[in-house]
Amino acid sequence: MPESKTCESCGREIEYRKKWARDWDQVKYCSDKCRQNKNKFDYRDAILSLLAKRDAGKTICPSEVLPQEEKSNAVMMEHVRRSARLLCNDGKIDITQNGKPVDPSDFRGPIRLRLKA
Ligand SMILES: [Zn+2]
Repeated sequence: MPESKTCESCGREIEYRKKWARDWDQVKYCSDKCRQNKNKFDYRDAILSLLAKRDAGKTICPSEVLPQEEKSNAVMMEHVRRSARLLCNDGKIDITQNGKPVDPSDFRGPIRLRLKA
């Protein structure tokens, strides 16, 4: 099996498929949807600047990045989580539940974000 990689759009681990055997090196996105979304709603800078204002080790809720009227918008929240996964894959932040880092490709339920120590 080739080395696993993560989607450059949503940050989830890309599951290797046989049909990609020949051009695995070129595969960057896990789906066509992710390819279309690649440059939309990049919240990475917003997440990092919010975290920079907190004391070391403190967390934020991903919804804090969004303006009030978008906080309950599931689509926008997923865009924030995509950006959070990318930052996590880059080693810049942890995605946490109950104070412990979780696998960015595989979490369910509410998360918080924390600068990597
Ligand atoms: Zn993806």
